Amino acid sequence: MIWKYRIGWVYTISGLPIEDATLLVEDGQIIAIEESSIWPDAIDLREWAVMPALINAHTHLEFSNLKYPLGTQGMSFPQWITEVIRYRQGIGDGIATEKVQAIQSGLRESARHGVGVVGEIATLPLTESAYQNPSVHVVSLLEVLGLDPARVTERLAQAEEHAIYPWSLTNVTPGLSPHAPYTVRMDVVEHCVALSAAQQLPLAMHLAETLEELELLEDGTGPFRTMLDGMGLFSEEDFPGGKRVMGYLKQLAQAYRAMVVHGNYLHETEVAFLAEHAETMSVCYCPRTHAYFHHDRHPIEDLLAQGVSVVLGTDSRASNPDLNLWKEVQLVQREFPDIPDEQLLGMVTKDAAFALGVEDRFGTIEPGRSAKVAAFPIPAGCPDVLTAMLAGQPRLWNLAEGLSEVDLATA
Ligand SMILES: [Zn+2]
Repeated sequence: MIWKYRIGWVYTISGLPIEDATLLVEDGQIIAIEESSIWPDAIDLREWAVMPALINAHTHLEFSNLKYPLGTQGMSFPQWITEVIRYRQGIGDGIATEKVQAIQSGLRESARHGVGVVGEIATLPLTESAYQNPSVHVVSLLEVLGLDPARVTERLAQAEEHAIYPWSLTNVTPGLSPHAPYTVRMDVVEHCVALSAAQQLPLAMHLAETLEELELLEDGTGPFRTMLDGMGLFSEEDFPGGKRVMGYLKQLAQAYRAMVVHGNYLHETEVAFLAEHAETMSVCYCPRTHAYFHHDRHPIEDLLAQGVSVVLGTDSRASNPDLNLWKEVQLVQREFPDIPDEQLLGMVTKDAAFALGVEDRFGTIEPGRSAKVAAFPIPAGCPDVLTAMLAGQPRLWNLAEGLSEVDLATA
């Protein structure tokens, strides 16, 4: 069956917005965008604006049961990591069940806020049913840790298994996430990059997130050194000093797609390198998490000015009160008013789809793409639709299934 929707404003992202267009949808996909005058039987949505379903490029859904972020605002990042480890230990044996519930809750929360795709950092053990949700596509990036020489072989085998895992769910695609410089050896990063290139998998790595991370790389000292010493995981061989984030970027540039998560403290030569490799690399800024740790101002404006692709993420509920991606967009709009509104929309749609390797299905409204859209009620005669969208809150619609009264309720 073909569904037809007459929509007030369609922000396709692939081109200019179209006023009063009819979207034709069949088998879960958009099949055409046409002038409205020829379809008198279309469902009337003239007081709505739609854009592609939002894409949250970075989150860790296993923390979605948290009511409040862990620790306190402004605390040091290494201290916060200790809180995360304590939280996981606190769950203890119930971790598998708790995790499934948390991931499910996180997916429902994402959908409530117009998010149709998440870049999810997955940890083992992983239960496939956790991702069962018809509304949200999950790019499941397996977190790979690897400093402990005794466990590196096992971790790499798990990464390989994840890369080729035969999911029975159609809303999941795999990827990899060598965690961060203070938890993975460079040879583990290299191995993940090689897998990414061979299997065409997206890859994400926490990088240039804190000054403490840079200190560990540059001098082999600081709070991360203390933390690793305490866990018996520090070795002079891994952290001899004299290293920079650039070393990791050069590795990541060999991947199919590589997303630098955070990039809060990138050096100007690193920004230039990312710009040179914009065809495969991007930076994910997590605005409210960034604010939680009281980091220095994020270099987003400089990154964009140099041509780096920047996408947005909520990160997890361990450092953010919720998973509402549109609030991240609104924060960027407030803090960086010079960034054009249209560019903000691209960061949470087209650019994020590319970063996560799902651009053939998501991120734009055009024939062949998913019929999931983010929808905003717009009053008749609204003088500036984009401003109204940015001030509002989206909901997620799946146009492949028709719309319910709940979907259409504006109160
Ligand atoms: Zn993260």
